[in-house]
Amino acid sequence: MPETWQQAVGEAITEATGDYFAIQSETPCGGGCINEATLLHGDAISYFVKLNDRSAEAMFATEFRALEAINSANAIRAPHPIALGQFAGRAFLVLEAIEFGAAPADWSAMGEQLATLHRKVSDRFGWAEGNYIGSSPQCNAWADDWTTFFREQRLRPQLEMAKRRGSPIRGAVHLLAAVDDLLAGHRPEPSLLHGDLWGGNAGHDASGSPVIYDPASYYGDRETDLAFTEMFGGFPPSFYAAYDRAWPRPAGYEQRKALYNLYHVINHANLFGGGYQSQAESVIRQLLA
Ligand code: ADP
Repeated sequence: MPETWQQAVGEAITEATGDYFAIQSETPCGGGCINEATLLHGDAISYFVKLNDRSAEAMFATEFRALEAINSANAIRAPHPIALGQFAGRAFLVLEAIEFGAAPADWSAMGEQLATLHRKVSDRFGWAEGNYIGSSPQCNAWADDWTTFFREQRLRPQLEMAKRRGSPIRGAVHLLAAVDDLLAGHRPEPSLLHGDLWGGNAGHDASGSPVIYDPASYYGDRETDLAFTEMFGGFPPSFYAAYDRAWPRPAGYEQRKALYNLYHVINHANLFGGGYQSQAESVIRQLLA
């Protein structure tokens, strides 16, 4: 029986890889938005470990499977998921450690490789399981039609969450009724998405090559990934230029962007409250105007 979580993680790595992993040292990373994070170093290899309380086990499991899916697409670098486990009331997720680098960051490659990821398509919208957007549950029940999926699996559950926390979003009913019109004639393919692609979940490794991580994947409209990259200021122009060279965004993207990012704005209102509530209501007013 392991005596510390570090030992438990070491055993899980040994079992998963077939190579005995003995921890020589540790570099705590301070954590991301949600989890604690640390790098465990062995003789020749290091692993990145996310830790949280036991309730995060399901979240870690969905991240593990999304990373598997992204890696199997062979389109863009994402950490290989190594192991999942728990010890003494804590859950852990072990990933390949990525050395984020000082080399010039290649944003063109990020755009081109994201388009390649998006070329991996399904015949339906959704995902094999529900997952999480931030710490909110994200519903992914399969649908043949994108508009229905976005209305019922994205907007409606977030609007219901707002109601349940006692701060219903003004304009919600009208918005849901308007989604069909707002997306009329738009027929995207069900692309494999990162699902949570803001600047905090994208970077470059030591060779300057793009890396995406912390996904909330599903098969959906690729424009939702691009829209979210723009929500907090945007990626460099070379990213969008390279994406459009590889697979141009269809006409109407600029109009759909606000609707797509509204999902994240409402999620932020549900998670953090504050100005996001009024931002969501103002976006809805503009969309309905
Ligand atoms: P959270 O799930 O808590 O939001 P993230 O997955 O966003 O955590 O990771 C937090 C930070 O840890 C990232 O911003 C990045 O700097 C670093 N990081 C993430 N994944 C790895 C990895 N595989 N190897 C090394 N560092 C990583």
